[in-house]
Amino acid sequence: MKSQDIRKKFLEFFESKQHKIVPSASMVLKDDPTLMFVNAGMVPFKEYFLGQRKIVNTRVTDSQKCLRVSGKHNDLEEVGIDTYHHTLFEMLGNWSFGDYFKQEAIDWSWELLTEVFKIDKDILYVTIFEGDESEGLVKDTEAYDMWKKHISEDRILLGNKKDNFWEMGAQGPCGPCSEIHVDIRSAEEKAKTPGADLVNMDHPQVVEIWNLVFMQFNRKADGSLENLPNQHIDTGMGFERLCMVLQGVQSNYDTDVFTPLIHELESKTGVVYGKSEEIDIALRVISDHVRAVAFAIADGQLPSSTGAGYVIRRILRRAIRYGFTFLNQKEAFIYQLVDVLSNQMGDYFPEITAQKQLVKNVIKEEEASFLRTLGQGLGLLDNVIAGTKGKEVSGDKAFELYDTFGFPIDLTALILSEKGYSLNEAEFEAALQKQKNRSRAAAEMDMDDWVILKEDAEEEFVGYDYLETQVKITRYRKVTSKKDGELYQLVFNLTPFYPEGGGQVGDRGFLEASNGDVLHIIDTKKENNLIIHIAKDLPKNPTDTFKAVVDAKNRALSNNNHSATHLLHQALRAVLGTHVEQKGSLVNAKYLRFDFSHFSKVTAEQIEEIEEFVNARIREKLDLQEFRNIPMQQAIDKGAMALFGEKYGDTVRMIQFGNSKELCGGTHVENTSSIWHFKISGEGAVAAGVRRIEAITGTVAMDFFLKQDKELVAVKGSLKNAKDPVKAITSLQDENAALKKEIESLLKEKAKNIKGDLKSSIQEINGINFLATRIDMNAGAIKDIAHELGGEVDNLFFFAGAENDGKATLTSYIAKNLVEEKGYDAGKIVRELGRLIQGGGGGQKFFATAGGKNPAGLSEAIDKVKEYL
Ligand code: ATP
Ligand code: MG
Repeated sequence: MKSQDIRKKFLEFFESKQHKIVPSASMVLKDDPTLMFVNAGMVPFKEYFLGQRKIVNTRVTDSQKCLRVSGKHNDLEEVGIDTYHHTLFEMLGNWSFGDYFKQEAIDWSWELLTEVFKIDKDILYVTIFEGDESEGLVKDTEAYDMWKKHISEDRILLGNKKDNFWEMGAQGPCGPCSEIHVDIRSAEEKAKTPGADLVNMDHPQVVEIWNLVFMQFNRKADGSLENLPNQHIDTGMGFERLCMVLQGVQSNYDTDVFTPLIHELESKTGVVYGKSEEIDIALRVISDHVRAVAFAIADGQLPSSTGAGYVIRRILRRAIRYGFTFLNQKEAFIYQLVDVLSNQMGDYFPEITAQKQLVKNVIKEEEASFLRTLGQGLGLLDNVIAGTKGKEVSGDKAFELYDTFGFPIDLTALILSEKGYSLNEAEFEAALQKQKNRSRAAAEMDMDDWVILKEDAEEEFVGYDYLETQVKITRYRKVTSKKDGELYQLVFNLTPFYPEGGGQVGDRGFLEASNGDVLHIIDTKKENNLIIHIAKDLPKNPTDTFKAVVDAKNRALSNNNHSATHLLHQALRAVLGTHVEQKGSLVNAKYLRFDFSHFSKVTAEQIEEIEEFVNARIREKLDLQEFRNIPMQQAIDKGAMALFGEKYGDTVRMIQFGNSKELCGGTHVENTSSIWHFKISGEGAVAAGVRRIEAITGTVAMDFFLKQDKELVAVKGSLKNAKDPVKAITSLQDENAALKKEIESLLKEKAKNIKGDLKSSIQEINGINFLATRIDMNAGAIKDIAHELGGEVDNLFFFAGAENDGKATLTSYIAKNLVEEKGYDAGKIVRELGRLIQGGGGGQKFFATAGGKNPAGLSEAIDKVKEYL
């Protein structure tokens, strides 16, 4: 069965059990402080488990893109070495949000595997949770009894907390789980070792395929468990592993999920899969990593030098480095795989096809730049080796290469061993650890548990209509970090404060207690589905009723920039073309920033055209048309632009100004005339194929023009109030150039005269033509004179002292034949006489100069030089 059909069958099976099929969420997380990427199918549904979002469908099924490359679930180092862990993989899931529980989850998983997919029961094992005394958790006899009906008891194994109690992270929803494993070894192997002994023992052919999690607890900050308000089912089956079983192969890389990528790699690099372990690992690493990187970019996370972007950059670099070392690829090549990937995955994941060109460009540029780094690093490594006494290279030096140039440590070790050197690995590890500790200490954040004042399912946002309202605090907690010290996070029953999102910064303002006390809200953020207000303190009486007031001036300035961003987006598509896709934005009270896909610099004419396009719409005084709660499909039919990588609900909000229609949760002006004026203040590149425009509006634009005007007045003033300052400056520049030329030719003339004078003062002493004199000219001119004299006069010994801008210089020129015959050394002479002018210098034996700060010593130096004859 083809992988496409396997995915489809899974989804249709659960659809037949009344589950709604939903698409995969973006892999990139934007409003979760504990996680950068979706690492399990449950992540996009976390809020349902925590009771922080209203449940619309109680049964859902999906195939979710997951990435396990950082944090609690990090498989990166295994990937490619083994045959069944990936960075990016699809997790097939069926979900019950407070609906069915263990019984159905177990029965249906069995039905699907053995009856629909017809997997032989004799290759399956299941595990259940054995309990854990320290947590006060009992053995899951319920699950045991349910499995007993399907499978013989010798195939039901007990598992400990590590394998059979599923937790997403240090905090959050969790619960006991029951896993299904397959044993796909040959009969011969099975006869030797029973499969039951190999379950959860990292055997590549005895692997877990499906995990059924019985979600019923929440892990709190202090490590204790509390019951969730409802019981839920969260299951996750590795799609690629299921394909391996159903396609009768022994490795995920032999399924049709990977073979097209591996074939493409074989033909591009001329190697063959399955011949050498080293090459096979490289092929697996690259075919795996290109998927992770391509989907991350398509979901809006570009490679970069910090945070989530750096994680993506490191994955790609790992792939490049394997290609470089084991496949001998010295030029960008991985980007070419994106075509194959898009052919193969594009049906189910349209984001990859729609953004193919961008993804390729970004990967290609990253490859090229890292290959340059590798080239430089090899040179630096040679220097390190040259500077090494003995045969062991210092770990600190290797760390420097790793840290500042991103030079992979395993590559360093490999090259060293090829050259007969070893690496002090302990020293490297120590340096690495030191750095990790530093950054951990800086990033560390302690979160207390929420103090719940009032149970409240959903915090209502009323900030589109009100900037002021009466609120109650429903919960709060203290958060302590090195960076910000102690802060409090407050959640209200309803709020006018806009939480940072969609590029727009969060509102600030204040809370006023009933006795008139004021507490400042310094920022507002969204965490999962909660709107969190940040304050430096707690109110004296948290259960009071407060007046919540948004800083209206700040909000109005942000509104200007947000609405202008929509008009800019529209302008870019009109002026540059519809290939323009939004790739990120920032909107605050001061300015707006907009990143978008486009392949060349935006020209000055295009900038003007874009500004005019936006300003025309400001002048048209377009009213805001807001569609606050319309079905997604209706918005799309109206022509609204949706962004890849954004999370949209079933109903959406659409913002329209004239023909600009976007799905957007941000705040906007009532009429475009409020924006007053739009001015682009910067344009540049962010990555290959991604440009950035920065712009200002409203009073900020006005201040900009006023400042420009003042400067122009000042310029005109210093140009004697010229009518046309541009013309006046051009003619000044022309005049300046002409004068420079004139000075140059005058100086040449002067040098000629001086040379004549000098020539006549040369003395002959024992066959040496000697001249020591003072010439107050710059060092370059004296050098020219010395060489010219040397060309005209044989056996010349020339020495000059000069004063220029209060500094002294010495120049010594000695004919080459004199140097050879008599052993003179101009370098030595200027070094020694340089002391008289409190300076130093050097050069070659026939020509040297010195500089110093004491012109008073010049005449003594000129007198003394005779002594060297
Ligand atoms: P393993 O022990 O094999 O690493 P796990 O316990 O980490 O698996 P879960 O967190 O329970 O796995 O994830 C559910 C399912 O997702 C697993 O049963 C497996 O089929 C699949 N899976 C987990 N990690 C990966 C990965 N890195 N690559 C591919 N599939 C994976
Ligand atoms: Mg794992």
